[in-house]
Amino acid sequence: MFIQAHAKLNLTLDVLARRPDGYHDMRMIMQSIGLADELELQDNESGQLRVATDLHFLPADEKNLAAKAALCYWQARGEAPRGLDITIRKRIPVCAGMAGGSSDAAAVLRALNQADGAPLDWTALAQVGERVGADVPYCVLGGTALAEGKGEKLTPLPPLPACWVVVCKPEFSISTPALFAQLDSVRLRSRPDTRGAVAALEAGDLAGVARRMYNVFEDVLPVRQRARVFELKNILVGCGALGASMSGTGPTAFGLFDDGERAQEAYQRLLEFSPETFLCRTV
Ligand code: ATP
Repeated sequence: MFIQAHAKLNLTLDVLARRPDGYHDMRMIMQSIGLADELELQDNESGQLRVATDLHFLPADEKNLAAKAALCYWQARGEAPRGLDITIRKRIPVCAGMAGGSSDAAAVLRALNQADGAPLDWTALAQVGERVGADVPYCVLGGTALAEGKGEKLTPLPPLPACWVVVCKPEFSISTPALFAQLDSVRLRSRPDTRGAVAALEAGDLAGVARRMYNVFEDVLPVRQRARVFELKNILVGCGALGASMSGTGPTAFGLFDDGERAQEAYQRLLEFSPETFLCRTV
């Protein structure tokens, strides 16, 4: 079975209160994009669950979220683990704020569920995904959605109007736990207008959504990394993006375009900054 695992972007990302369990409550609008990993699932006779990826530094055991998803699925269905080979061709940059691992996990859940004689509905499948990671329930759902709580409370939203997306992952990576730790010592200067962005989605107003995009983690980045992300956003807007923001805990910057030629120009410009630059559509 061949399946695609789409990357996600955060059109908005807000962090609310820290909870007694140590997690932070989030409020964010998620959007899936055409950039996708490719997975192949094949039953094997060995009885072993095996994972192979084209990136040597990714785990090839149950620490790989794709394998963890398969184990969680079988456990939820009361089944014993069985022989399965999962082969992943990574396209989504790693540690980039685009939920690459979570998306691989969600793709495995969907594939196993689809092949099941008595498939779970998407809410039950998302609950299985929650055991794998906070972003997995959204990746099971896909499209445009409001995510709250740790990210598991999902409300589907009207789809973002068709547009081009230019995505650029700079050469450095950001530590997600370090950035969350920073949150508690920083006073956030601005917050995204998530409610306004939802209203713009309901009105089919692409520019209205793009104008309201913002991610509170941009304020928390170390100084040099923040300057780099701002530089990328400025290039995107300079090339005609309707809006630009950072995804997740970064450092990926992206812009939305209603004009394919402008998007192409931004793509070419940003390729000079990073080979991990992509031009795609929303899905
Ligand atoms: P998020 O946006 O959900 O915070 P991210 O884009 O920052 O995710 P990922 O690329 O999903 O981060 O990977 C983060 C970590 O997960 C890495 O340390 C990586 O080793 C591990 N990992 C496990 N399985 C996978 C996978 N299938 N693909 C990518 N990373 C994986």
